Amino acid sequence: MCGIVGYVGKNDAKPILLNGLKKLEYRGYDSAGIAIRNNLELPVIVKAEGKLVNLVEKTNKLNIFTTSGVGHSRWATHGKSNETNAHPHHSDDYNVIGVHNGIIENYQELKDKLTNKKYKFYSETDTEVMIKLIDYYYKKYKLGPIDAINKAIVRARGSYALALMFKDYPNQVWFAKNGSPLIVAKSDDSAYLASDVPAILNYTNKVYYVNDLECGVLEAGKVTFYDLNGDDITDKKELVTIDWKADSADLGGFEYYMDKEIAEQPEAIQNTINAYLTAENKLDFHSIGIKQEYLNDLDEIYIFACGSAYHAGIVAQHVIEDLAGVNVRVELASEFKYRNYKMNPKSLAIVISQSGETKDTYEAMLKAKANGIKTLAICNVKGSTITRDADFNAYTYAGPEIAVATTKAYSCQLVVLYLFALFLARTKYRINKENYYKLIDEVKQIPALVKETIDRKENVQRLSARFTEKTNVFFIGRGIDYAVCMEGALKLKEITYINSNAYAAGELKHGTISLIQKGVATIAIATQPTLIEKTVSNMVEVKSRDGSVVALTNDGNNVEQSSKYQLYIPKINPMFAASVAIIPLQQLSYYVCLNKGLNPDKPRNLAKSVTVE
Ligand code: GLU
Repeated sequence: MCGIVGYVGKNDAKPILLNGLKKLEYRGYDSAGIAIRNNLELPVIVKAEGKLVNLVEKTNKLNIFTTSGVGHSRWATHGKSNETNAHPHHSDDYNVIGVHNGIIENYQELKDKLTNKKYKFYSETDTEVMIKLIDYYYKKYKLGPIDAINKAIVRARGSYALALMFKDYPNQVWFAKNGSPLIVAKSDDSAYLASDVPAILNYTNKVYYVNDLECGVLEAGKVTFYDLNGDDITDKKELVTIDWKADSADLGGFEYYMDKEIAEQPEAIQNTINAYLTAENKLDFHSIGIKQEYLNDLDEIYIFACGSAYHAGIVAQHVIEDLAGVNVRVELASEFKYRNYKMNPKSLAIVISQSGETKDTYEAMLKAKANGIKTLAICNVKGSTITRDADFNAYTYAGPEIAVATTKAYSCQLVVLYLFALFLARTKYRINKENYYKLIDEVKQIPALVKETIDRKENVQRLSARFTEKTNVFFIGRGIDYAVCMEGALKLKEITYINSNAYAAGELKHGTISLIQKGVATIAIATQPTLIEKTVSNMVEVKSRDGSVVALTNDGNNVEQSSKYQLYIPKINPMFAASVAIIPLQQLSYYVCLNKGLNPDKPRNLAKSVTVE
């Protein structure tokens, strides 16, 4: 969960590296450091414990112009968070200097081997072992950095994104990756590397995604890639243009990214809708490569996803089944890969992942592909791993999402799924033209309705005070409301650490109701007209057992007798209700988190894009 950055070019490396680290701050860290170098001189290494400002203060004293360097913000895994363990690490003669994001699992075995070769270690980190292993092969075989890096990485187990400087190669920064995220980028006179795109957006929007077991080198205005055999594979790499604005990853006056991203939802949803609507007000998914003959034959859809994306998938299950008449199975990607499930050959697998890097989802996708099933990826990051291997890509246009708890990416996923359901329904002649255009118009109203819901935040803010001391919260609902419950409960638990659980309202009587007693809060979501009476009965059941009920429902619904507090959201076609119902739940989590003095952007133990199993 740390960040690495690297730079080579004509400009001063120090501010570029520090800015990059600043942009990666959201990933969490406990210490930071940089190594900067001016041509033939040996790099200067500066490290500091704690916040990035400590490093900035220390480097202020350095009045040198340097043209290459690497930087790191560390989230300690091996060894205490102190200056010695902070990166960059170096071989004793400074022949190799490097930063590392990840974990070298067999570091002890490698350390023992190097100790036998007379290497000494000054830190407790696995990273120092890796740097010295590269140094060892570099000196032993004398075949240059790529050979040394490749020899080391085939012996290392675990995950890494490495950025390295070699004494004999001034004005070059070398890299290697396996498991941990890494992008490289270039402009006319410079080249960059970073753990994530926001770190380089101020300088260029042309990036390469580095694949596992690839390595390479940055030079001024140039990037070269190599495979494990040391062959140059640069020709095979695609330079992707990122259409995010440079300032879109800034806080822009907000205190936290989560607040900013909640506020950005109307625009993000609008951008996503625009991407699929033609000038004739029709939906077009053929343009992403999906052929009509294939859709005509389609009789089942699988959705593979994790976390919030899985919850978006459950909403979509209802919408697609209702509108398009195609059965949908939604599977947790992390579980599906272990199943011996016989996939329907006439099916489509939809995989959903904000980052496009979620390992579990990627593996479920590969399993579907291995079964001969076509795959449609719904991701927010162009060129990411999943999008490169999917047959079709339907992007969300949320812009960079920094806060760990997703808000705008989830909302955009919902909208892509609605539009796809509508497109499918129409192309399979399940809905008539009139209904098709009516539903498109209703989707087009979502940004305004989301905005209106966001603006009602004061009610949520007031209610949030009642949740600060809670230890248990239940969410109940039926159908699409149940899917929203799951997302609402996840939001609340991930950033406030309150134990929150979602239950299908009808399940309450099958067990959960025994947990209801005075002081236990239940949030009941009731946006579905055909189910509302049944959910209201469940609310009354909770109330009768002294539980306090918050009803989340559309304007005009009468829930005051059956609940203690009410949160009203604007009226909307029930099929699309998840898009507005989730807003107060995002806000509630955010305010409860603030009330508890926690940082909503950086919940403990969580990472934004989960690239491990
Ligand atoms: N395992 C390395 C360490 O403990 C790197 C941790 C990180 O990714 O920040 O220093």
